[in-house]
Amino acid sequence: MQHDSEDAIAELHAMLDCASVIVGFTGAGISTESGVPDFRSPGSPWMVNKPIPFDAFVRSRAARIEAWRRKFTMDDHFAGAGPNRGHRALARLIADGRSPGLITQNIDNLHQASGIPDDRIVELHGNGTYATCLTCGWRHELAAIRPAFEASGEPPSCIMCGGVVKSATISFGQAMPQAQMLRAHDLTMRADLFLVAGSSLVVFPAATFPVIAKRNGAKLVIINREPTEQDVIADLVVRAEIGAALAPLA
Ligand SMILES: [Zn+2]
Repeated sequence: MQHDSEDAIAELHAMLDCASVIVGFTGAGISTESGVPDFRSPGSPWMVNKPIPFDAFVRSRAARIEAWRRKFTMDDHFAGAGPNRGHRALARLIADGRSPGLITQNIDNLHQASGIPDDRIVELHGNGTYATCLTCGWRHELAAIRPAFEASGEPPSCIMCGGVVKSATISFGQAMPQAQMLRAHDLTMRADLFLVAGSSLVVFPAATFPVIAKRNGAKLVIINREPTEQDVIADLVVRAEIGAALAPLA
């Protein structure tokens, strides 16, 4: 059910007050207020090039060079981005013990930057602020990779095993991280209020979690600028900026 936004925000806070286990689920929309572009929106720098699929990255040195070149260019677009009111509100829910954790589709690390401990965040699509070896899993820091890449033009390889090093994000065609999927499912099953903030719910399997929560008896709230296909099953749809909608919590 949808009201005008002022009524909807009041309803949202009434529902939050009544809930005992709140689980947030966030997408790109929560970070746009921090200046991180939504990669699917028109004009986004992400839309200029076709994404490099995972198998091409693994197979082709040229694809890896191109991927790393794009990655560092994109990083420069939002180098100064910090958490906003929406991130801080969700951090407050966790700090106050009202939420056991949150699930995010974002790779921007802004939930961690808002003060939420790593072990309370499930990153379904990985994290773009570091890299890992695809063979041995060793973590590689971008601050070390970038200057070496820019000096040599060679894609990074693992100092431990020589394997292919990739940004710690999930690419098109790459398997979803099983441990994160299980943690997300567990959190979803604990929720009595499932709070979607800034996701259009079009990327699967991530977008199944609100449906699972609803089927499990949780209330479903969707705060998003645009309509989503799951609005019809939501108990409340809030068509407002996330920062404004959640600000009273922060
Ligand atoms: Zn390795």
